[in-house]
Amino acid sequence: MEEKRNYQFETEMIHTGYDSKQFQGSLNPPLFQTSTFTFENAKQGERRFAGEEEGYIYSRLGNPTVTMLEERMAALEKGEAALAFGSGMAAVSAILLALTKTGDHILCSQGVYGCTFGLLQLMKKKYNINHAFSTMETEEDLLQAIQPETACIYVETPINPTMKLVDLEMISRVAKSKGIPVVVDNTFCSPYLQNPIALGCDVVIHSATKYIGGHGDVIAGIAVGSKEFISEVAMTTQKDIGGIISPFDAWLLLRGLKTLAVRMDRHCDNAEKLATFLGNHTKVESVIYPGDEKNKDYEIMKKQMRKPGGLISFAIKGTKEDAQRFMDHLQLIKIAVSLGDAETLIQHPATMTHSVIPKEEREKMGISDTLIRLSVGLESWEDIRDDIEQALDKL
Ligand SMILES: *Cc1c(COP(=O)(O)O)cnc(C)c1O
Repeated sequence: MEEKRNYQFETEMIHTGYDSKQFQGSLNPPLFQTSTFTFENAKQGERRFAGEEEGYIYSRLGNPTVTMLEERMAALEKGEAALAFGSGMAAVSAILLALTKTGDHILCSQGVYGCTFGLLQLMKKKYNINHAFSTMETEEDLLQAIQPETACIYVETPINPTMKLVDLEMISRVAKSKGIPVVVDNTFCSPYLQNPIALGCDVVIHSATKYIGGHGDVIAGIAVGSKEFISEVAMTTQKDIGGIISPFDAWLLLRGLKTLAVRMDRHCDNAEKLATFLGNHTKVESVIYPGDEKNKDYEIMKKQMRKPGGLISFAIKGTKEDAQRFMDHLQLIKIAVSLGDAETLIQHPATMTHSVIPKEEREKMGISDTLIRLSVGLESWEDIRDDIEQALDKL
């Protein structure tokens, strides 16, 4: 692809980062399944290690297939550079460890992914890096929660599974006035629905396991940010801690990305129809879906997301056992954690993803025993609806 042309998202997700002319016309990016790279002579090895000559050395430090993925992801997230990791958590840990030192403080949105929560606790216990949570609903909330030691603001939006949103433009504006970097876990949106860097945030993280891969066959992560910050991470908390992606997984993600926008449109269309259906069902107590005009965060959604996304949470009337019975009656929909796959997946946060949080705190967060999280797949929405309906009928 020619340099510096301004293509649309749908074109970049297919072409950016790969030039077939450099690879004997191969339409698809080649898989460089190699651990190391040979030097033409000893002096070339010396120059590469000294950084005097560009070129690959060893796949933990860089690999051509991985580079293609990183260039494509940087473009899609409107950042300068990207770095791929062996999992979303490898990306989260490398970024948080790069931004903080002993005595620092991390300010988080009201909910973070369970293992991110675990990492924050570990950093506190072992390295005295503290954290706090804030609703970040207003500038005042945020200003009050920021401490002199706050080294980074870490947010997810929408938040799993309560689907609360935070205003990324407002947060980045306040953070900038204090000189604090903002990191956004953008997994729930994918770069197609939301671009935090374009809204002023500094770093974007993805669990590429979800929508970016899109086919439930890879665990991987990506971070996007400035050239300077990303190369610092590449040379420190990635290179030396070692959470790199395998070339094959990078190759799978390059393939997944080619259909990202098409898949996201379908996920979103199906979710919109199912949210309406669930909202009208007598056995459903409540539905949380960012595209619902009555949702408290609807205006934030309109402001910063292209579409409301493919995830829905809903509470059924009854007890925890009713929720579990409902799930067991499903025939097409699979019971599984994870999200963003072609298959519709359903999970029960209170006993699965959020089971480590004490019940009382869980309920304060809005996670009741009857709340169910649906990752809407790419199947016919009528078939998904019919499956939910027959399972609800059996209650
Ligand atoms: C899955 C997920 C992660 C962790 O990613 P892995 O690829 O499983 O390591 C982080 N954040 C969010 C929002 C996720 O959904």
